[in-house]
Amino acid sequence: MKDLIHRAAGDLVRSTNAVALTGAGISVESGIPPFRGKGGLWERFDPMEYAHIDAFMKNPAKVWDVLIKEMKGIIDNARPNNAHKGLAKLEKLGILKTIITQNVDGLHQMAGNTDVIEFHGNFAWQRCMECNNRCETKKIDIGQIPPRCECGGIYKPECIFFGEMIPPQYLRRSEMAALACDTILVIGTSAGVQPAATIPLIAKQAGAKVIEINLERTPLSKESSDYIILGKAGEVLKTLTTEIERLLNI
Ligand code: NAD
Ligand code: ZN
Repeated sequence: MKDLIHRAAGDLVRSTNAVALTGAGISVESGIPPFRGKGGLWERFDPMEYAHIDAFMKNPAKVWDVLIKEMKGIIDNARPNNAHKGLAKLEKLGILKTIITQNVDGLHQMAGNTDVIEFHGNFAWQRCMECNNRCETKKIDIGQIPPRCECGGIYKPECIFFGEMIPPQYLRRSEMAALACDTILVIGTSAGVQPAATIPLIAKQAGAKVIEINLERTPLSKESSDYIILGKAGEVLKTLTTEIERLLNI
């Protein structure tokens, strides 16, 4: 694996426009469980019962009480891990230009990355469904469920629920970034949720190298990945950035 990481580091040092696509796996070492797989939220919750927009509209109190309250507790306290910090370092070194993330936890921005496309929205803010007033999730009082705005309207997190459309401008910007990049890092995503899963394919077809970092192989591994680095995102990014700094004599 070391050899693989060293070769990927060499490619990244030569890159002038790298992009990263990240999924729930990059935040697992920050204590945020993924949706699918071992320890994932879907082992306990039925996504269609709690994460579909129709479920929220039908019974916001139920979705707040079970899913959103728990996510708020976890995300309010989460901090960037070595994988987020590694990507922030790659931006500072001028290698990484943009992060496209499926995550809603805000940890890339907290680590210091400045160009982050939040494909599935964010959990940091809530919006009143009546008057559109915004409130930081951290400041929401969950003494009352569902939490309400001063106008009496119910707050909804600014993330995309199943059944909701991805804002077209995010999709367009992500596709442009994928078309323009020479290297794409695909970190901690099962590559199963559309349309995010097509981003690495667009990059690959346009000639980019695909560096995949995950605990296990994914549908992308066979089709498109030039490097498949199996391991924990935080550990791999730490080794990768150390090697890049060595090659750059930093
Ligand atoms: P996923 O839950 O489908 O898959 C997570 C992937 O990460 C798996 O392939 C798994 O093998 C890998 N993984 C787990 N731990 C890892 C580690 N330590 N290092 C490297 N890889 C690891 O996640 P997804 O593909 O991102 O899609 C699910 C959707 O869930 C996303 O759209 C996202 O909006 C949402 N989600 C977000 C968060 C968050 O914001 N942190 C958390 C859960 C779910
Ligand atoms: Zn309101």
